[in-house]
Amino acid sequence: MNVVTRFAPSPTGHLHIGGARTAIFCWLLARHYGGQFHLRIEDTDLLRSKQEYTDSILASMRWLGLDWDGPLNYQTQRTALYNQYVDKLLESGHAYWCSCTPEEVEAMREKAREQGLKPRYNGCCRERNLGPGEGRCVRLKAPLAGKVVFDDLVKGTIAVDVSELDDMVIRRADGMPTYNMAVVVDDHEMGITHVIRGDDHVSNTPRQILIYEALGLPVPRFGHVPMILGPDRQKLSKRHGARAVIEYQNDGLLPQALVNYLVRLGWSHGDQEIFTREELIEFFDGTSLNPAAAAFDPAKLEWCNAHFMRELPLSELAALVRPFAEQAGYDMTGLDDSRLEALCHMFRERAANLKVLAESFAPLLTPAASLPLDEKAAAKNLTEAGKGHLAALREVFAACDFTQEALEAALQGYIEGNGLKFKDVAPALRTALMGFMGGPHLPEIMAFLGKDETLARLARAAA
Ligand code: GLU
Repeated sequence: MNVVTRFAPSPTGHLHIGGARTAIFCWLLARHYGGQFHLRIEDTDLLRSKQEYTDSILASMRWLGLDWDGPLNYQTQRTALYNQYVDKLLESGHAYWCSCTPEEVEAMREKAREQGLKPRYNGCCRERNLGPGEGRCVRLKAPLAGKVVFDDLVKGTIAVDVSELDDMVIRRADGMPTYNMAVVVDDHEMGITHVIRGDDHVSNTPRQILIYEALGLPVPRFGHVPMILGPDRQKLSKRHGARAVIEYQNDGLLPQALVNYLVRLGWSHGDQEIFTREELIEFFDGTSLNPAAAAFDPAKLEWCNAHFMRELPLSELAALVRPFAEQAGYDMTGLDDSRLEALCHMFRERAANLKVLAESFAPLLTPAASLPLDEKAAAKNLTEAGKGHLAALREVFAACDFTQEALEAALQGYIEGNGLKFKDVAPALRTALMGFMGGPHLPEIMAFLGKDETLARLARAAA
């Protein structure tokens, strides 16, 4: 099957998760069928469109791994092309010039409203055969009866009576084509076979189909995905923890986790939750798209990210966490790849994202003298008995090779040799090493810290 899809963001803000999900669906559909995926920048809103947003959207697309085919298209560069199509419609009698002023059109709408009808343009200039002129727009001559029917990939069959659709403006009085006109021309020129977009556009689709039909062009397949809702099933907002893709990136989310999470918001493959990219491409064929709106669940996104962080080879995780460690302000001089990998190995199980992971390294990268000591943990664990063990363990470890295995054996030897239990010793040791009651496996911590730093920590806590 020949599949050509597109993502058509308006650069009036950063890429948000709703847009990202649409882009992912379009990208996957194209990749599944070995087709093409295009990117078009819908920048006709001159007041709100900004190049910085286009750049940010492209950066987010790249970060998500959504590569596009062919050149980028900017709608503002294509006005002449759109107008050629408007001219064709005028020549074929499918469009006409209209001299009604906005005030007159508003009055028609008001009158319709008063009569309990749908507000619409009354077709006043339809048969007047006007030519171009100051203040005149061009309207599509829509059929007067019948239905526009299309089979939506997500929502199933949608039928709209043409009486609901008045003769829409396709070129404004200022010569600019309207949104629906531009989209149809673009989608046709770009050879788009499948238009997948948010269902905030579903009411545009019958209008766009009328333009295709008037131009005698094949109509693509449409799929309208429901909006993503907040956990309270209200409109999704920042208050729900939903943010722009770039903010997730800055927080250290993995792109594969965000892609995986977003794909599952509105699409399913049995009850599988975690997919490799290859699996997504293999399974995503444009079916199993859920017509019901899905709710954003930050906890599940976090779970998904933690999963991918655990699965990643340590070397990759270490490379990804490095900029976050730099940001955290650590002295990076001694932190070569193998030491970063060791830190990742110790802390990744407990971290939901790269930023938190980098921050969790702090106790091991702060020198003994300035390591904060949690007061409660100190009061509870650095008792006389606890300090006694720390002093004795200093002697034991001083004579020890600082590999994890040797430290493990030495600690075990001390516990067993003195008829103790692990819990008699571990809380004091942990408080001494970490400054609080938490953190990874004790011998692994010590092996990482090395002899000098370990002994310094024990000495400080025992004092
Ligand atoms: N530019 C539109 C938007 O950002 C997309 C329109 C479309 O996909 O047809 O909502």
